[in-house]
Amino acid sequence: MTTAVDERPDIIDVDDRVREGSTSQIQDMPAYREHWSRGEADPSGYWLAQTKQRVHWRKAPTQGLEGDCWSVCDGPITWFADGELNVTESCLDRQLAKRGDKVAIVWEGDEPGDVRELTYKELHAEVCRCANALRELGLKKGERAIIYMGMVPEAAVAMLACARLGAVHSVVFGGFSAEALRDRVRDCGASVVITQDVGKRGSKNIPLKATTDQALEGEAGVEAVLVYQRDASVEVAMKAGRDHWWHETVSPASAECEAVVCKAEDPLFVLYTSGSTGRPKGLVHTCGGYLTWTAYTHAVTFDLREDDVYACVADIGWITGHSYIVYGPLCNGATSLMFESVPTYPDVDRYWDMVARHKITIFYTAPTAIRVLAAQGPGPVRKHDLSSLRVLGTVGEPIDPVAWRWYYEVVGQERCAVVDTWWQTETGGHCITPIAPATPEKPGSATLPMPGIMPVLVNEHGRPMVGPGEGRLCIAHPWPGMARTVWGDHARYVMTYFTTFPGFYFTGDGCRRDADGYYWITGRVDDVLNVSGHRMGTAEFEAALIAIDELAEAAVVGYPHAVKGQGVHAYVVAQPGVEADDALTAKAHEAVRGSIGAHARIDRLQYVPGLPKTRSGKCMRRILRKIAEGEPDKLGDVSTLADPSVVDAIIEGAKSFG
Ligand code: ATP
Ligand code: MG
Repeated sequence: MTTAVDERPDIIDVDDRVREGSTSQIQDMPAYREHWSRGEADPSGYWLAQTKQRVHWRKAPTQGLEGDCWSVCDGPITWFADGELNVTESCLDRQLAKRGDKVAIVWEGDEPGDVRELTYKELHAEVCRCANALRELGLKKGERAIIYMGMVPEAAVAMLACARLGAVHSVVFGGFSAEALRDRVRDCGASVVITQDVGKRGSKNIPLKATTDQALEGEAGVEAVLVYQRDASVEVAMKAGRDHWWHETVSPASAECEAVVCKAEDPLFVLYTSGSTGRPKGLVHTCGGYLTWTAYTHAVTFDLREDDVYACVADIGWITGHSYIVYGPLCNGATSLMFESVPTYPDVDRYWDMVARHKITIFYTAPTAIRVLAAQGPGPVRKHDLSSLRVLGTVGEPIDPVAWRWYYEVVGQERCAVVDTWWQTETGGHCITPIAPATPEKPGSATLPMPGIMPVLVNEHGRPMVGPGEGRLCIAHPWPGMARTVWGDHARYVMTYFTTFPGFYFTGDGCRRDADGYYWITGRVDDVLNVSGHRMGTAEFEAALIAIDELAEAAVVGYPHAVKGQGVHAYVVAQPGVEADDALTAKAHEAVRGSIGAHARIDRLQYVPGLPKTRSGKCMRRILRKIAEGEPDKLGDVSTLADPSVVDAIIEGAKSFG
């Protein structure tokens, strides 16, 4: 017996969501389970089918995966090894027929309303011009180009132009110092640097060209510097013979450029990790697998539709910008917004103003930004019409349930799916995340693995765990988007990811699995505390502390304790205007006891003016750990720190604990 569709509200519900042009194939949980099972039973078959649907191949691959988490010791794994493509043909050329006049990139400049739109046709032409110019400057297939720019469309153009030539780009976040830039230029052996005169952020000029000059002093390997002019009123020095203006080199070049055909496993880019846990690693992503993974996850996680206005407000200097501003969205023919400014300029309602003006449907940001904006209350959000929003995403850190609820209730008006996407530079794209609108969410949980991802929790003895529990998060099987190696140092790649738990990719993160099979990232494994035999995630302490209205941010680390094994040192930042008095301290202790239990006791509570953050906004806990351990002289690599002065203040304050 069959039931009429209109008698089954669950089906109507789903049908309603599947609008024309939805490129996700996973709209409900049965479809999710089916795809996940297919990806597990026959990974090569599943991904060969997916890549042929989503990526434009010159020569379609017949090979799926070669290698596994053991064989990486002998050399990189491969996906689609006999396939040939140029990723820009997927992102540009094949879009021209159907989407030539569709906006590919909508750019919102530093000043609100300073907007530029590039259609797929225009973007294609500009990428070809830039590729021709770079070829003239000597850039060849396989050679590296560093891109050190702000958030202008030309940064995406530069990335794609390198890809058009089969050259390898390495984007360095525009906030980095000359020293950090020089390290990366040297590490990847770049022959070309692409930069701009100045970057703009919150009405300030960022002297990108001047910093480049400083970084390149004495670096003979860099033969050419291409400079985009963002602000003609700013004078910058140009070195004759080496430096070339974009408008003099790129603009007059031909708008046609034959794409260089690459092998699936040719490197597409090198990207250095944020450096939260140590010296940054230059991870290598390759053409075929990476593009497949980003296109797939971008369409599936966000339930992408043809008429979406999609906005990821990350910086292209991070993997989030690579995968989810440039490659995934363009491969899917989406309209992708690029944002040059900061969430608080000129006011704290900047994001919401932008959502309303551009009628953004999918909005993707980081928990650190959500916390900052939530502290402003609902007022700045309610000033704007956010009815266009359908899906909200976060990435970068665990999102505490309080911030999650604020995002869901105040920004999403309890109408939007919230996707808390867990992934890493190394993973290329989303690995554990809700899939909108299929996955039922739980605030603070990254929920369930993507098809193709087989997570394993490993206990202290190195054994895989079954069922609910807490352990170290590993992935048992290679997926197309995983980084293949560390540039020039495959041994470091193997050491870092495949030797801790042989046979598994080790993420470095701790994680809890609940009775429903949902995953809760607890933070870095190095951050798990062991107090008198109790294992506790620092993220749990921090969530309890941030839930207090008077506290803006918290970071908790362990330090050696004679009796308990480890003591708990909490660094907390009070909200502006709040006095850090005994009553607040008592409240903090009470909150932790109340939410975790009596065994959770903070031994040292230190009020600090701010937390040491990386340029990508992540807390560098290893610095806080060194300070708590009484070794402030052994902080290690601090080149990616956003504001070093905060560290001095924290070291000073910690002296009171002796
Ligand atoms: P490094 O590896 O140099 O220390 P990093 O790990 O900060 O730098 P990224 O690759 O940018 O560099 O960050 C990945 C890490 O971010 C993950 O390992 C995880 O700790 C954290 N992370 C990302 N998204 C989430 C999320 N949704 N929930 C919890 N943690 C997340
Ligand atoms: Mg990492």
